[in-house]
Amino acid sequence: MTILPVIPISPDQPDTLQSGAVSKRSRPKMPPRHLADLDLAGRKSAMAALGEPSFRAKQISTHYFGRLVRDAAAMTDLPAATRDRLAADLLPTLLTPIREQACDDGATRKTLWRLHDGALVESVLMGYPDRITACVSSQAGCGMACPFCATGQQGLTRNLSVAEIVDQVVYLAGVAASGKVTGSPPRLSRVVFMGMGEPLANYPRVIEAVRRLTTPAPEGLGLSQRHITVSTVGLVPAMRRLIAEQLSVTLALSLHAPDDDLRDELVPVNQRWKVAEVLDAAFEYVAQTGRRVSIEYALIRDVNDQPWRADLLGRLLSGKLAHVNLIPLNPTPGSKWDASPKPVEREFVRRLREAGVSTTVRDTRGQEIDGACGQLAAGELTEASAGGAAADAEVAQ
Ligand code: SAH
Repeated sequence: MTILPVIPISPDQPDTLQSGAVSKRSRPKMPPRHLADLDLAGRKSAMAALGEPSFRAKQISTHYFGRLVRDAAAMTDLPAATRDRLAADLLPTLLTPIREQACDDGATRKTLWRLHDGALVESVLMGYPDRITACVSSQAGCGMACPFCATGQQGLTRNLSVAEIVDQVVYLAGVAASGKVTGSPPRLSRVVFMGMGEPLANYPRVIEAVRRLTTPAPEGLGLSQRHITVSTVGLVPAMRRLIAEQLSVTLALSLHAPDDDLRDELVPVNQRWKVAEVLDAAFEYVAQTGRRVSIEYALIRDVNDQPWRADLLGRLLSGKLAHVNLIPLNPTPGSKWDASPKPVEREFVRRLREAGVSTTVRDTRGQEIDGACGQLAAGELTEASAGGAAADAEVAQ
């Protein structure tokens, strides 16, 4: 088995990770401050600095988080001169949509964004009969280098700021509210951190974004913590830190192999934290939160789909509060790998279920628009029209 170089990981110091992965480039410039970077107290201080009464913090927050309005002209309860000044200071444009694509009759919609420094990221909105889920990016690119994932091939550009993460959700909540997502209720209710990037490598910003998304309006968006899923390759120290946060978000672990030999190759961070350690941390999260952990497993033909691997995975998870999400491998440019044939997939499912492990196969939402899991490679858009987001990121619940 090829052993890939160990990637420098320092979840506690995400910027070290950045400089490790971005070769010799200078430290990336973070975007201007936005109201979503601040809690309500911070927004009140910002008002004081602007010479405005502190109640304006609540007014502008109600527009942004409560009504999903970001256009100053629509904030008619604010004096005209004030609203422009406040919007210029607290609502700078962080994300410029440069392409929107839809498929599944409008139920899956992918947005490609340009950030202030030209970096590109994507988000995906997925409509179901009873809910709408947003799949958001936490980093531009990714430093985890999983060889079957398009984002992993492009390397890390930079961490997103809290507001760059939150603003993807607020924008998509506006799209959901407009009724454009065919066949779904007009309300965004779930968020999965399964777009570009490794959320736990941008730890403090992702946690703050989760808090902002789950604090009631007008301070935040008021989503339920239980309706937020954070997915990780298994950065064990950051997983332990997450346990200590006492949040009740769902944890998803991208396992992809039950044995270290293969996982060392498929998820290179496994060279640092092994299957046993990563599962221990996941089970500790379960014990702390009472929430079922979701085990992500992309089925790759003749690579990780053997019956013995299903049995081994079954033994590792049997009796645990865990759910396996099998993802038929989505094609990525230049990849030598392929999805497992359906009979092999069915046998894998059968063996897991026989071991008493709840298992589903994820629908591959957004494949036609390269919006499915691991297809996100926005960096290539500068040259061609290729691209894609991790989109079929819905966790079967
Ligand atoms: N970095 C985090 C968040 C990304 S989530 C993580 O890895 O968990 C995206 C999910 O899609 C992960 O489970 C990832 O392993 C999976 N994935 C990546 N490339 C894929 C592909 N080509 N086909 C199917 N799933 C893929």
